[in-house]
Amino acid sequence: MSIIKTENICKSFGSVDVLKNVSLTVEPGEVVVIIGPSGAGKSTYLRSLNHLEKPTSGKIWIDDKLIEDRVNGHNQVKLPHKERAAILLEMGMVFQRFNLFPHKTALQNVMLAPMNVKGVPEKEAKEKAVKLLNQVGLGDKLDSYPAKLSGGQQQRVAIARAIVSEPRLLLLDEPLSNLDAKLRVDMRAELKRLHHETGTTIIYVTHDQVEALTMSTRIALYRKGELVQVAPPLELYDNPVNLYTADFIGNPSINFVKGTAQVEAGGMRVDSPLGQLGFERGDMTEAAPQSGSVDVTIGVRPEQLSISRQADDAHWVEGH
Ligand code: ADP
Ligand code: MG
Repeated sequence: MSIIKTENICKSFGSVDVLKNVSLTVEPGEVVVIIGPSGAGKSTYLRSLNHLEKPTSGKIWIDDKLIEDRVNGHNQVKLPHKERAAILLEMGMVFQRFNLFPHKTALQNVMLAPMNVKGVPEKEAKEKAVKLLNQVGLGDKLDSYPAKLSGGQQQRVAIARAIVSEPRLLLLDEPLSNLDAKLRVDMRAELKRLHHETGTTIIYVTHDQVEALTMSTRIALYRKGELVQVAPPLELYDNPVNLYTADFIGNPSINFVKGTAQVEAGGMRVDSPLGQLGFERGDMTEAAPQSGSVDVTIGVRPEQLSISRQADDAHWVEGH
């Protein structure tokens, strides 16, 4: 069973295609981090999941139930309003801009969510809210109004508000982008703890690859409205499907060197400014040619290099 499944989601604003056939399935308990440059369509995709955005076409299933099948922007699935509301209740969301109620205190902002939405008694809601606000370092700001809080403090209230109702699915859109470096590390740990304790499924948008690599069970990499690759972090790092992924993941980034390969049955020999390198057939993918001469790009991650004063094995390149 999947908690979210999307198939061929497309979204256009006028003549601009912002999402192009995005298909992604998220299993219960996963933390899927959506990453990609600004404007890649990350927020638009996330907003499509909780009905804030209407895809132009494509299908969305929640708990294996088809809730949207859009053609020309119209949903072919007729869903009673009550049923849709019940589905959305199970989702929490933290926006890039925090959307707190300005006339409510930090404590009220957090405790009203479980009271209004889930009918949790006031006393219990308050206890939970106070505990969470303490955990995010705002124990002394319970009675402050949002305008009196810094951006980072407001963001922490927004995070506490989203998790206080223990949603089954938590949608986070760059939730830590307003926090300073130390708080970001603390909040990452806090979200990881939450995930560990409650098993909440999380879909998390960020442009920060450290966040993606440390928080995720899988990373979904977007470029210009397309989902380029989705895989566990190490697989993305070790087996990028193309140069874009190879370049995006890794800091400092990978080095590319142009070369020419002579392919034979046993493998290939590559000539490049790095000298001559050999690769065995077993290390090549099915898609690699069987024979002939092809242009190649060699990717070398900086952390895979070590510096030595002696050329003591076969894999060395002279450098200055
Ligand atoms: P990301 O979150 O990856 O930075 P977005 O999903 O916010 O990207 O936006 C993707 C593209 O869609 C951007 O080029 C943005 O300008 C455009 N876009 C988003 N919302 C709208 C809108 N309501 N009207 C027109 N264009 C939009
Ligand atoms: Mg965004």
